[in-house]
Amino acid sequence: MKNTYEEYHNHLKKLADINHSIAVLSWDKEVHLPKDGANFRSRQVATLSALAHEQFTKPKFGELLQNLSEKKGLNSKQSKNIRLSLKEYVKATKFSEEFVIKRSKLVSAAFHSWIKARDENNFDLYAEDLGRLIEIKKEEAEIIGYKSHPYDALLDQYEPGMTCSELDALFSNIKPQLIDLIKRINQKDQVSDEFLRTKFDKDEQWEFGLELLRQMGYNFDAGRQDISTHPFTISFSPQDVRVTTRIDENDFSNMTWSCIHEGGHALYEQGLPIEEYGLPTGNAISLGIHESQSRLWENQVGRSKNYWTANYPSLKKRFPQLSSVSLDNFYKAINKIGPGFIRTEADELHYHFHVMIRYEIEKRIFEGSLSVEEIKNTWNDLYEEYLGIRPTSDIKGVLQDVHWAHGGFGYFATYSLGSFYGAQFYAKAEEQITGLNDQIRSGDLTLVKSWLSENVYIHGRLYEAQELCERISGEKLNVSYFMNYAKEKFGAIYGL
Ligand code: ZN
Repeated sequence: MKNTYEEYHNHLKKLADINHSIAVLSWDKEVHLPKDGANFRSRQVATLSALAHEQFTKPKFGELLQNLSEKKGLNSKQSKNIRLSLKEYVKATKFSEEFVIKRSKLVSAAFHSWIKARDENNFDLYAEDLGRLIEIKKEEAEIIGYKSHPYDALLDQYEPGMTCSELDALFSNIKPQLIDLIKRINQKDQVSDEFLRTKFDKDEQWEFGLELLRQMGYNFDAGRQDISTHPFTISFSPQDVRVTTRIDENDFSNMTWSCIHEGGHALYEQGLPIEEYGLPTGNAISLGIHESQSRLWENQVGRSKNYWTANYPSLKKRFPQLSSVSLDNFYKAINKIGPGFIRTEADELHYHFHVMIRYEIEKRIFEGSLSVEEIKNTWNDLYEEYLGIRPTSDIKGVLQDVHWAHGGFGYFATYSLGSFYGAQFYAKAEEQITGLNDQIRSGDLTLVKSWLSENVYIHGRLYEAQELCERISGEKLNVSYFMNYAKEKFGAIYGL
């Protein structure tokens, strides 16, 4: 090997080719795969994953990284890439092949038990396999290493640099404020939204979703939309970023905000720097920052009065049953506040309690103060404490999310971080873009997209999450941006 940066980049491009091929197979699995195809598809993905791991952890590649990290004359972006790859390399080589195989078997067992437990609405059928998976995740945290809390090691995989103590501070700051705001809302007249759950023609919904994506600036020459059970975004390169949605004939909200949400993720992926393909800086920063992009579009833009001033006439044309509903009432309905059991159906305020509950449970599991047997009751107790409702079944409670069955401990907090970052970024966009709201009211969203492109997308992973936040807003993540947004918006809707 010649130990050049070019050689390093070429190796990573090949790895990206393998990883994106895995992504194509995974996308196909969710969108088109016939039932009998599942077995071989899992095998094909496992083979390619093992190949990618083998190529990435090759000792020769390690030497190349080591040499380049000591080499003078690299620019700051190149040095950053080498640093990030070296960190990944060191982490990846800490795990024995035996450990990786064992972990993937435990994930697969837990996932199948979770499916079975859901079918029978019985957490106990899943508890044993979940317990085994938790044990190996504890081992994983020890292998990765951490400074003060084992959970930090898991968190770092989704949100690099974030720690338990920072999250504790964020949540304990926002919790009493949310409780207070919801309490004041509950004392007011409630909003009616039943007209959102009449029959909405599926084809019209599909066409409307495409219209919204086009309006956001999603490039259909570099992507497409399909239907899947759970909406998601997946990238094969910035020039091919796919989104999916689901359509419920009796619930208009489902498709609409999932389209806008996934569209926000997709714009980020389409906007990443093409010439950095394969390099760390060719990727998004973290799950929290990714989620900030989807939520900013979904909530700050897509649930605003300005946005619907532009889009409501077209919506009414497609769905005449709304013709007697005023824009004002429609706007209130799509922002209705009320507690519920299901995280993915939660409003903008209650959402964070769903996250806090999962976060508290995960933290207790990994500090060893909560056993698998206690998870279900703790879950139900916390719902009663925070949301005032006790899940009536396991499906509506502890079995609702797939994340744990995939071994995704440390993931949930990134959803709340996304909302908080999103609110902070949007507040700055409103300050910096003159006439932003007038533009949105006229149906022109180009300024939102171009601002995000310049401030977020084109940097890829050049900055850490908090660093990007400081560059954009002059300070680190500060939840008062989210709270100010929430107080102003819901204060106006509920007349507080
Ligand atoms: Zn998302």
